[in-house]
Formats: sequence, C-alpha cells, structure tokens
Amino acid sequence: MKTKKILLIATSVLLLLWPLNISAEGWRSRVWPKTPEGFLRPDPTLDPDPIPDPDPDPQPVPKLSGWIIVVDPGHGGSDPGAVNSDLNLMEKDIVLAIGLKLKSSLEVLGATVKMTREGNDTLSLSARYQLANNLNAHRFISLHNNSASINTAEGIETWVDADAGQIWLDYATSLHSNTVKAAKTYYNVKDRKIKLSGTTPPWNGKKITVINYSYIKCPAALLELNFINNNTEANRLIRSEYQNLLVEGMSQGFIEHATYYQKEAGLRR
Ligand SMILES: [Zn+2]
Repeated sequence: MKTKKILLIATSVLLLLWPLNISAEGWRSRVWPKTPEGFLRPDPTLDPDPIPDPDPDPQPVPKLSGWIIVVDPGHGGSDPGAVNSDLNLMEKDIVLAIGLKLKSSLEVLGATVKMTREGNDTLSLSARYQLANNLNAHRFISLHNNSASINTAEGIETWVDADAGQIWLDYATSLHSNTVKAAKTYYNVKDRKIKLSGTTPPWNGKKITVINYSYIKCPAALLELNFINNNTEANRLIRSEYQNLLVEGMSQGFIEHATYYQKEAGLRR
C-alpha cells in the first residue's frame, strides 16, 4: 500500500514536469528570455558579442619607429683622422664603413637615419651638429677610432658632455655597455668606460665640439671604437665580422635606451 502511494506520487511529479521538457539542454534554455517562438537557443551562426580574432601573424611595431637618428662618421675628405701607416688605414674610412652598417641596422629597427656624410666628404664640426639640429633629430651618435702615443693602447670608450643631464648619460651608457658587450663576443676587449667631455683628461675644461651640450639640441654621444694605431685592434676593425658586432651592440644600445626613454626625452628645442 505504501509502495503504491509512492509510485503514484512519483508518476504525478513526472507528468507535471513533462511539459517543461527538462533535459540538460532544456534546463539551460530556461534561463534565456522567452520569445513568442519559444525559448531562444544559441545560434552558432550568430555571435551577439563578437571578439575579434587575434591577428594570426601580428606585425610588431619596430622598436625605433619614429626615431630620427643622426649617425656621424668622424673626419672625412681632407681630414683622414688617425692613421695607421703600417697597415695603410685611415680612421675616416673605417668609421664610414661602420656608420653605413649602423644606418642599415637602425633603419631595419624602424628609425629614420641621416648621416652627416655617406662618402669621403670634408665636413666642419658645426655642420655635423647643425644637421642634427635642423632635422630636430632625437639622438646623435659620432663614430671614431682612438689613437695614442703608445701602440699598445686598446679598448672602447664613450664620451658624453659632463654638463648634460641624466638622459644624455644614460643614452651614452646604453650605447657603450652594449657595444662593449657585443665586442666581447669577439675578443676580450678592454672597457675604457664612459668619459666626461669637459672634465676628463685630455679635455679638462674643453669640450668635444660635436657633442657639446651648448651646441647640439639632442642627446649626443661619441664612441671611440678601439685604437687604430694598435695593429692588433686595427686588424680587427677592418674585419666585417667585427664591424657587424659593433653595429649589433650599438643597435642594441638604442633599443635599450628606447625602452627607458621616449624619443623626445632630453631634447632642447
Ligand atoms: Zn676621430
């Protein structure tokens, strides 16, 4: 008797629920608003809140996009710069070769690059920084090879104006440290560190003209890439593998600097 009663109740409940069509799908559909046509069902062809598909192959924004950089190969034309007469090498030729490679590398990174000279031209010092000023350039880099009275002097050093601010110093430091790091993959280059134009010998009180804070309006640095009068270093300088490493290092320095500073930072308009 008891069993019969339970069966009767269970059957009644089932009959009551039957019109609601409770199933896994139907239950979910009950939370959807009702329309005259019945319950709304998800239509796979309609997406009420479309999420744009991510670009399957997104093109990254070049790291130096929008940057205007002036590359200044030192000397040129009637001014050979430092000379190695043993090897018949002139500073003006080596820094031009490196400068042209640097231009290509920075352009690949998205920068607009202007060179103070792309050939064997004679240029005044003022023409170099004035080009940067006229272009409203964001950064200026001057490329040189060092020379000393002894032929065993070696290494890389980078100059920045002692009176310029932190941004100039950070810019020079990024260029220097990354260039030395890249050169170290070729040989154990001597790191001659950052030098302050205006305070560090031999410039005591006197400044390197092209990177003088009073003349040039954008952060500027001058790199002395090894000693041309040291035959060992001069022989490295003319090898394209070594030049490529120096360029990679300088380019990495620009990228590092651009991660810390906007291109407009440090400009004096
Ligand atoms: Zn020089």
